[in-house]
Formats: sequence, structure tokens, C-alpha cells
Amino acid sequence: MNDFDRTLRPESRIVHPPVVQVNGSRPMGVPLHQGHVFAFASSDALAAAFSGPDGGFVYNRNGNPTVRSLEEAVAGLEGGTGALATSSGMGAINTVLLALLRSGDHVIAQRSLYGGTFATLADLVERWGVEVTHVAGDDPAEVTAALRPNTRLLHLETVSNPTTRVTDLPGLIAAAKAAAGVVTVVDNTFATPLLCRPIEHGADVVIHSATKYLGGHSDVLAGLAVFAGRELHEKVWRHALELGATADPFAAWLTLRGLQTLALRIRRHCDTALDLARRLAAHPAVTAVHYPGLATHPDHELALRLLPEGNGGVLAFDLAGGREAARAFTESVRLASLAPSLGGVHTLVLHPASTSHRQLSDAELAAAGIGAGTVRVAVGIEHPEDLWADLEQALAKA
Ligand SMILES: *Cc1c(COP(=O)(O)O)cnc(C)c1O
Repeated sequence: MNDFDRTLRPESRIVHPPVVQVNGSRPMGVPLHQGHVFAFASSDALAAAFSGPDGGFVYNRNGNPTVRSLEEAVAGLEGGTGALATSSGMGAINTVLLALLRSGDHVIAQRSLYGGTFATLADLVERWGVEVTHVAGDDPAEVTAALRPNTRLLHLETVSNPTTRVTDLPGLIAAAKAAAGVVTVVDNTFATPLLCRPIEHGADVVIHSATKYLGGHSDVLAGLAVFAGRELHEKVWRHALELGATADPFAAWLTLRGLQTLALRIRRHCDTALDLARRLAAHPAVTAVHYPGLATHPDHELALRLLPEGNGGVLAFDLAGGREAARAFTESVRLASLAPSLGGVHTLVLHPASTSHRQLSDAELAAAGIGAGTVRVAVGIEHPEDLWADLEQALAKA
């Protein structure tokens, strides 16, 4: 494989993903190796290729040249020693949790988690006897107080959904590391490695739903787990083989194709999101805007340190008209679309209280910092003036 010098800036490395070399020349587009099995001259050579996550290629569930390119590219961007590509973000999360936990273990996790992660943890508690303590993302002392002799894992998200609270990664990770044997896992989907690299803040494992910004075009489901060290990589990879959670080559190929423009897209997402956040904050129908780039955001100071190059493409805002106004708004957009997901080139809006968070009562919503009139906007890369015109006309109907 070509392995571009890690001292190059991410914007340069990202357009040269490592490629498995076939005949001495280096293909500029990453080839799609769709065939699922590889033949060998001897049984010894075949056996040797089964050796580990960076062994030879035998069978696609164990490893594949196209999938390996994606793994190496994202490991390089995150500053990890290696990565495992999975069938989805949830595939990565479940593989990591199931590989590292056993009955009776204790997990400390953020309270505001991606819904699928929250459900997985609840399931581990109910059916597997794992214990979970939920903490806020801004107080390391809460992690210290939650630590038990059986604590094995800390699970955090860089930026929370939908109210964009920024997690004190260095503080919470250091608090967990004060105890021996706690693996720290950070879901970095919202930030991407261009805005935040959790391994630099002490994380052992970084998770991505590559379905979002890394793929970036709303046409592929994929996930990644990036590792700060070889031992965890090996352990999680072995479990991925058992689960059958590894990535399909075509999904990896589409993700790589999207990944190469991530630097351009993320700059645009960040700039437009900040621009729209400021305009929304000045609109009379809007009572609050949640975007870390605004000085009014509770984590603005932390965001300046942790996300110095931009705060991502997701923002949320509260409408004075509450639940009905938020519904009307999300059903009135024309350039933007009413849809879940985020991180793609298209702008998407969502009313969490009546969709992604519909199971929560108003009190539970309030505890999660979500209002009945909160709208989430996953800002795409359309022209900001066209987006503002669309949001303005939908606000007039709310
Ligand atoms: C979407 C998402 C996931 C799940 O990823 P899938 O690719 O949909 O399985 C996990 N974490 C976060 C933060 C997400 O936004």
C-alpha cells in the first residue's frame, strides 16, 4: 500500500487514500474488489493470510482490499493504529460493545446518546446483566463518582444530538483513565476527524457512522471503529468476524469516493451552519438557537478549544409556536427535506418531538434539553442564500 506521510495535512492525505498495489503502478481511483474469496498456492500461505486484521486477503468477512483502503484512510485521519470498517455505524457500536463487555461489567455512558446506542445499552442491561450509569457530558467529577471496580467502558459522543452540546472529551476521558482497565470509546460522527480527533484527547476507540459525513452523499450505509492501539483492534476485529458485521466492498468503495471530498464539504457545512444559526437567532419566530459556534451556546468556550476549525453541520432551534409550529415548519420547507439522517450534501430538517424522540414525554424531552418546538437542521452544501430563503418562507408558515 502507498501510505502517505502522516505529516501531510488531512486535506492532502484525504484525496490519496492508501491503495493495495496490484502490479507496481498505483491506481488513482481505488479499485472495487467485489469478489469475496481469494485463492492460494499452498495451505501454509492460506493459513498465514488468516492471521489478523492486517493479514493477507482470504475471504471478505476477514478483510478485503477495497475495505482495507477505507480502514487505512480513516485510521490515518484519526491518528489511530488501525481501523475496522463495518456494515453501519450501529454495526461498529455493537461490535465494539459486544467484543469488550461481559455480564456484570459496568459502563458509564453519556445521557444524550444516539437513539440506537441508547437502545443497545438498554438491551445489554436487560438481557446481558451489564450495568450502565448515564452522566452529562460536561462534568468529569460525575465520571469519577460513577466509577466502580467493575467499570470497563466509557462511551461518549463528541457532539450530542439534536441540541449540539459539546462533550468535555479531555476531562471525561482523563477521569475514566484514573481507574485501571476502562476503555474509552467516542462516537465522532458529528465532528469527523477533520474537526476533532478524539485519540489526541485520550480515546482508545473512535466510532463513525460513515453513513453521515464520511460517505456524505446519502447513498451508503457504513461504519468504522478506529483504534489507538493494536490489541483492541485485534480483539474487536475477531468479534466482527463472529458477528459478520464487517463492511461490504461496494459500500466501502462508495464511502471512499465520498471521503475524498470531505474537507471541502465539511468547510461548507460549517460555514453555512454558522451563517444560518446567526440569521435564525435574529428571527422573531425563533426563541433559541443551538449551535456551538454561537457565543450564546453553553459550550461555546469548550467548542473553541475542542473544535477550533468549525462546529459541524448540525444545528437546532426552538420555535415560539411550540410543537405545532415546528411540525408546520418541517412540512413547509421546499429546498430542504423532511428526513432523518445528516451529513449528506442535502439539507434535512426534522422535528425530534414528533419523530426521532416521539417516545419521550414532554418532561423527558425537557430533561434531554429538547423542546416540543425544537427543530433540527442538518445543513447541506446548497447555496446559503437559497437555504435561508427556504427557511424564511417555512418560518412564515410556522
Ligand atoms: C447515524 C448515527 C449512528 C448510527 O449509524 P448507522 O450508520 O445509521 O448505523 C451512530 N451514531 C451517531 C452519532 C449517528 O448519527
